[in-house]
Amino acid sequence: MFRSPFRMFCVAAATIAVSLSVYAAVHSASRNPLDYEIHDMNRPMAPVVTPGTFSENCKPPSDAIVLFDGSNLDMWNGKWDVKDGYVKVIPKSGDLVTKQAFGDCQLHIEWSADPDSKGNAQHKSNSGVFLMKIYEIQVLDTYKNENKTYADGQAGSIYGQYPPLANPARPAGDWNAYDIIFHRPHFDQNGKCVKPATATVFFNGVLVQDNEAIIGPTSHAKRTDYKAHPDKLPLKLQDHRDDPIRYRNIWIRPLD
Ligand code: MG
Repeated sequence: MFRSPFRMFCVAAATIAVSLSVYAAVHSASRNPLDYEIHDMNRPMAPVVTPGTFSENCKPPSDAIVLFDGSNLDMWNGKWDVKDGYVKVIPKSGDLVTKQAFGDCQLHIEWSADPDSKGNAQHKSNSGVFLMKIYEIQVLDTYKNENKTYADGQAGSIYGQYPPLANPARPAGDWNAYDIIFHRPHFDQNGKCVKPATATVFFNGVLVQDNEAIIGPTSHAKRTDYKAHPDKLPLKLQDHRDDPIRYRNIWIRPLD
């Protein structure tokens, strides 16, 4: 069949190349949420990285709106517990929601998982940063991927849509920082979404969401289509009714 060693080599090399490309296509982690069922347990978890010390407990820039400086909840509606420079979720007390509404923004927020949590999976220090009360950047104790859950529900995920690109979470009790750049969705006069919301997220200084197009409101176990809403809505922090996780040093820079 092979008249020369060279031809045999060419056929073998081509076969290997095709096989490798097929393998890569099947096994590489797609960023398209629609390539996966929501909360697909087979979706690859984000690779663990050890973060540096960038961005933790940083001082806000002079033009930021300080939403929480450790002293009071004057900028918020809700009844969480303020002490020692942080605010702690009182489970089952309800969410914390800003009095002011925001659209496009740069947001800095720090959070610390509960070291005494008895929960697991989505019940281990679950909370969330909801841009416009609708689009959730997940907060969860997923330090070193030891808490088994679905990739699109890891800390730093756009919940139910995009796992983080990396997992730089610190252990429960330590502080984590999110720096989020968010652009709101745009709707036409008929209420049709003509430009999806986007989010870029740095997690402890590590890029975990790279200008991802959010495919609709984030929700548990179902994907929903955009529905027209105002250009500005409040920021919400989630009471998931489990653990008393902590937040501190929250500031925002409206970009519109
Ligand atoms: Mg959550």
